[in-house]
Amino acid sequence: MNKGVQLYEGKAKKVFETENPELLIVSYKDDATAFNGLKKGTIEGKGVINNRMSNALMQMLAKKGIPTHFVKELSERDTLVKRVQIVPLEVIIRNISAGSFAKHYGVEEGIVFDAPTIEFSYKNDELGDPLLNEYHALALKLATKEEIETIKDLSFRINEALKEFWLSCGVTLVDFKLEFGRLSDGTIVLADEISPDTCRLWDSKTHEKLDKDRFRRDMGGVEDAYREIMGRLEKQIGG
Ligand code: UDP
Repeated sequence: MNKGVQLYEGKAKKVFETENPELLIVSYKDDATAFNGLKKGTIEGKGVINNRMSNALMQMLAKKGIPTHFVKELSERDTLVKRVQIVPLEVIIRNISAGSFAKHYGVEEGIVFDAPTIEFSYKNDELGDPLLNEYHALALKLATKEEIETIKDLSFRINEALKEFWLSCGVTLVDFKLEFGRLSDGTIVLADEISPDTCRLWDSKTHEKLDKDRFRRDMGGVEDAYREIMGRLEKQIGG
C-alpha cells in the first residue's frame, strides 16, 4: 500500500490517502507540542515509538473486543488505518489526579480515585479544546446520544484493559486521552493514538514520569523515558 495525496498534517502525525478510499496511512513524526501548540520541540525517535506502541496497544484492545481503526503496521513510522470521520470530542479518563485536574480543583497530583473519571473537551484548536459536558456535545451536534453512550462504555473498558496491561509492566496508568471515529457505516471505533504523548504513565514503584510531562515540564530525560516505557511494553508482549 503506497502513500497517496497528503490529506492532513497535524502536530505529531501526517495522514495520507491510499488507493483504497476506505484506508489511510498515518505517519508518525518526532515533533512534539504542548500547551495548545505554544511549546514546540522534537523528541528524537518518538514517532517510531508512538507508532509501534499505539499499534501494539490497539491490537491488544482488539483482542478484548474493542473496535479500533488499526489495520496494519507498514513500517517504523507508518501504519495503515481505516478511514474514519473523527468525532470532535477528546475523551479524558483519569485514575489518579494530575495535570489540569490537579490545577482546576486545587489538589496535589497522585490522589488515587475510588473510580475513574471521564471528561470531554471539544476538539477545536482555535478555541483551545474547551471542556464541555454531554449536553453541550449534543447541543453542538458533535455526536448523538447513542454515540456518546458507546464512547463512554468503550472508554471505561479501554481504561480497565490498559490499566491491567501497564500494571503488568510495572507502570501506573494515571490518565489518558482518547479519540473516536465513525466508519462509513457509522460504527464507532477507537482512532488516533495511545502513546506516552497521550497518556500519563508513572513507574509503579518510584512514580517516575515516563511520558510527555517530561517534555511539557522541561524535566529532561525525555527520550530516555520514551525508550524506557517502550522497552517495558516490548518485554511484556515479547515474553
Ligand atoms: N492529553 C492529550 N492531549 C490533549 C490534552 C490532554 O493527549 O490535548 C492527555 C494528557 O497527556 C494526559 C491526559 O490527556 O495524559 C489528561 O491531560 P490534562 O487534562 O491533565 O491536561 P494537561 O495537563 O496535559 O494540559
